[in-house]
Amino acid sequence: MSARAKSPVFEYAPAPESREIARLKPSYQIFIDGRFRDGSGDAVKTINPADEQPLAEVAEAGPADVADAVAAARRAYEGPWSAMPGKERGKYLFRIARAIQERGRELAVLESLDNGKPIRESRDVDVPVAAAHFFYYAGWADKLGYGGFGPDPRPVGVAGQIIPWNFPLLMAAWKIAPALACGNTVVLKPAETTPLTALVLAEIIAEAELPAGVVNVLAGGPAIGAAIVEHDDVDKIAFTGSTEVGKIIQRTLAGTSKRLSLELGGKAANIVFDDAPLDQAVEGIVNGIFFNQGQVCCAGSRLLVQESVADELIDSLQRRLATLRVGDPLDKNTDVGAINSAAQLARIRELTESGVAEGATRWSPPCELPERGFWFAPTVFTGVSPAHRIAREEIFGPVLSVLTFRTPAEALEKANNTPYGLSAGVWTEKGSRILSMAAQLRAGVVWANTFNRFDPSAPFGGYKESGFGREGGRHGLEAYLAH
Ligand code: NAD
Repeated sequence: MSARAKSPVFEYAPAPESREIARLKPSYQIFIDGRFRDGSGDAVKTINPADEQPLAEVAEAGPADVADAVAAARRAYEGPWSAMPGKERGKYLFRIARAIQERGRELAVLESLDNGKPIRESRDVDVPVAAAHFFYYAGWADKLGYGGFGPDPRPVGVAGQIIPWNFPLLMAAWKIAPALACGNTVVLKPAETTPLTALVLAEIIAEAELPAGVVNVLAGGPAIGAAIVEHDDVDKIAFTGSTEVGKIIQRTLAGTSKRLSLELGGKAANIVFDDAPLDQAVEGIVNGIFFNQGQVCCAGSRLLVQESVADELIDSLQRRLATLRVGDPLDKNTDVGAINSAAQLARIRELTESGVAEGATRWSPPCELPERGFWFAPTVFTGVSPAHRIAREEIFGPVLSVLTFRTPAEALEKANNTPYGLSAGVWTEKGSRILSMAAQLRAGVVWANTFNRFDPSAPFGGYKESGFGREGGRHGLEAYLAH
C-alpha cells in the first residue's frame, strides 16, 4: 500500500439543507393561458427518489389541455408577443432571471427533492446556470438584427418543447429563454418524474407578468408529449431526451412543415494522454461521469487512457473515488445522490450486469447505500473492449468504462467509434494536440483539460445519433428564427 493510500479519511458531520426551504405544496397545477388549473389527466404523485416517499400530487394534462395550451400560445403569439419590440421582451427575460436568483435556494432544494441530485449541484450548477441562460438571452432580444440572421429576423411561431428529468429546471431554461428572446410562444412539457421546478418556474413567469399564453407548462407523460408533437398548430418542436424517442418524433414530423431540433443521448470519450497532469485529469474524470450520478447526456462515460499511464491513473482514480460521499441529496457534503427512478436504476443494473457477463472487471469503492430509495454505487469497469455493451450503449448512470490506447490515431478511432457524437474531453499539456484532436473528434462539444462545463454563450448539441440543432450562444437562436 502506498503512503498516499494511508492518508486519513475525514468523517463529516451531517450538514443537511432544510426541506422546508422548498415550500412544497400538497398539490401542483398545470399552467395554461396565464392561469393555474387542474389538468384533465390523472392526478399523480411525484416521489422523492432518495427515499421513495411522495412529495406532492400533480394534476397532469390531458389531450384537451394540450389543445387549450396551443390555442393560448397562438393567441399570445399573434397578439402582444411577436410584435413586441425586442427591448421590451428582453425586460421580461431579465425579470425571470432575477426571480430565479431570488428564489434560488427554494428551487435548488425542490430540484434535489424531486430529482435526487446533490444540493451542492442544484445550488451551484442547475439554478445559477438556469438564471444565466435567461440573462444571456435577455441581452439578445433587442440585438437579433445584428446577429447575422438577415436584416429582419422573424420568430417561428408556437414552439412545443419536451424535456427530460436529469436537469429539469436547467433544460426548461435552455428551451424557454431563446424561444422567448426571438418572439416565439411556448408549450413546455417537463418529464413525468420531475415536474415540480418547471411548475414553480411557471409561477415565476406569472409573477413576472408575461402576457397570458406566452408560456404554458403541461405536466404529463409520453402521450402528452406526443400530442404536442402531433398538434397541427405547433410550428416547431424542440426535444431533449432519448435517441429512441427522438427518432419517433422525427418520423412523426417527416413530411410536415414543422421545424425540429433534437438533443439526444451520448457516449462521450474522455481521452487522457500520457503528458496530462494526472491529478487534474482524475478530478475531470470524476466530474465527467459522477456529476449528477452520471445521468448526463454529455457524461464522460468512456475513459480512454494512454497505456503507459493507465495503471497509475486508475490507481489514483480508485483512491479518489473512495473519498466520494454517497447519500442524502440534501446534505451539503454529499457528492453522489440518488438515481432518478426505479426504471432508470433497473436499466443501469441490467447494463452493468452485461459488463460482468461480457468479461470486463467491475470495481466500486466501499460505500454504504441507504436502504430506501434508488441508489447505485460509483462503478468503474476495466478490461473493457470496444465491442462490450458497456462501451457502446448509453448507461446514463454512475458507471465508467475504461479502455486504453497507444497512439493518438488509435485514441481518435476508438473515440469516434460510436453512433453518438455529443461531447468529448482531451487531457494533454500540448496545445497543438488539443487542436488536432478537437478538429477530428466527431462531437459537438470538446472540452480540453476540463469536463462538463456549461456556459450560456457556448453552443451545445450533437452529431449523428446525438441529434441536430444547437442550444446556447448565438447558434441557439437559429432554431427559433424563421429562415
Ligand atoms: P425520454 O426520451 O424517455 O423522455 C424525454 C421526454 O420525452 C419526457 O418528457 C417524456 O415524457 C417525453 N416523451 C416520451 N415519449 C414521447 C413521445 N413518444 N413523444 C413525445 N414525447 C415523449 O428520455 P428520458 O429517459 O426522460 O431522458 C434520458 C435521455 O435524455 C438520455 O438518453 C439522455 O442522453 C437524453 N438527454 C439528452 C440531453 C441533450 O442535451 N442531448 C440532455 C439531457 C438528456
